[in-house]
Amino acid sequence: MTVSDTVSTTGRGSTTAVRFHGPGDVRLDRVPARDLLPDEVALAPLAVGVCGTDGHIVAGSFPAARPVVLGHEVCGRVTEVGADVDGLDVGDLVTVEPHRYCTACAYCRLGQEHLCDHRRGYGVRLDGGMTRRQIVPARIAYRLPAGTLPWIGALTEPLACCVHGMDRLAPVSGLPALVYGAGPAGAMMVALARSAGCAPVVAMDPRADRRRLALAMGAHAAFDPTDPGTQAAARALTGGFGFPYVVDAVGSSRILRDAMAMASRGGRILVFGVAHPEDEAGIRPNEIFSRELTIIGALINPYTHQRAVGLLSALPLERLTPAFFGLDELPAALAEQRSGTADKVFLAPYGRQAATSAVG
Ligand SMILES: [Zn+2]
Ligand SMILES: [Zn+2]
Repeated sequence: MTVSDTVSTTGRGSTTAVRFHGPGDVRLDRVPARDLLPDEVALAPLAVGVCGTDGHIVAGSFPAARPVVLGHEVCGRVTEVGADVDGLDVGDLVTVEPHRYCTACAYCRLGQEHLCDHRRGYGVRLDGGMTRRQIVPARIAYRLPAGTLPWIGALTEPLACCVHGMDRLAPVSGLPALVYGAGPAGAMMVALARSAGCAPVVAMDPRADRRRLALAMGAHAAFDPTDPGTQAAARALTGGFGFPYVVDAVGSSRILRDAMAMASRGGRILVFGVAHPEDEAGIRPNEIFSRELTIIGALINPYTHQRAVGLLSALPLERLTPAFFGLDELPAALAEQRSGTADKVFLAPYGRQAATSAVG
């Protein structure tokens, strides 16, 4: 992949943005800075999370508009408010709920907007936050509590997806939970399971640094799933009962099979990670029947963004180790996200200092 820098100077009336032009073709473009509509706000994005989806878009394996400004995990400072906007002021730190729904399809009219026939995501089909100036409707900008660090604020979007997943899993306190995958999403799932009172919370990840992260985020135990004997050791922590709640925060047929094997009778299995569309799991219907298993999906973040804002200070999110890159460094950021040592990678359009300091 190449980044071609087409920016010579940041002229008045324009801004710089990381735009996807096609597989392997991401450019730092100078784009015209348009005026606000009355219901919009302009943001200076201070921290923008880099997520697996961004890598899939750049690789060409996740459909996106061309050109589109990437970035859907955005925290920024409000720099301008439209004439009709109430409740937001210049200087506010906000996080963006990055979806637009049609409001007219059957799902939208049933209150299931996240399943909308015509859902469009900012940073995928609509211009996102990897820029020095993002314009969004004010209704999708959520004010963050005073003192929130921008990089923590940028975790609201993935956390909101985890909250929806936990809503779907619906754990009750005092029962075991097992989480496959302790990347950023799996680690947040661990923290949510712990705060929901699940006990023990057990994490599985082949990477030692991610097992350490899972423990730091509240797991009672963390195992390497490639070690022989791991399944027996994890099950032993439940007294042999198994796990009433199992989360796949990776997304693969193999993990779905393992999750079913580790579930207790009556267990609920949340498919949260994004598996490859062609990946197929051999599942025995008799097992679902006779063990009364429930397999659940969870898609994005319906009505959970505000609750995720409320959770930012309640979960140990500062234990994630962040890494920051400039707007001109997306390839390096994606490489770090794939195989580096940071737990979570961000672009910092105004620099690391702005991403890591509370807005005064
Ligand atoms: Zn994401
Ligand atoms: Zn719709």
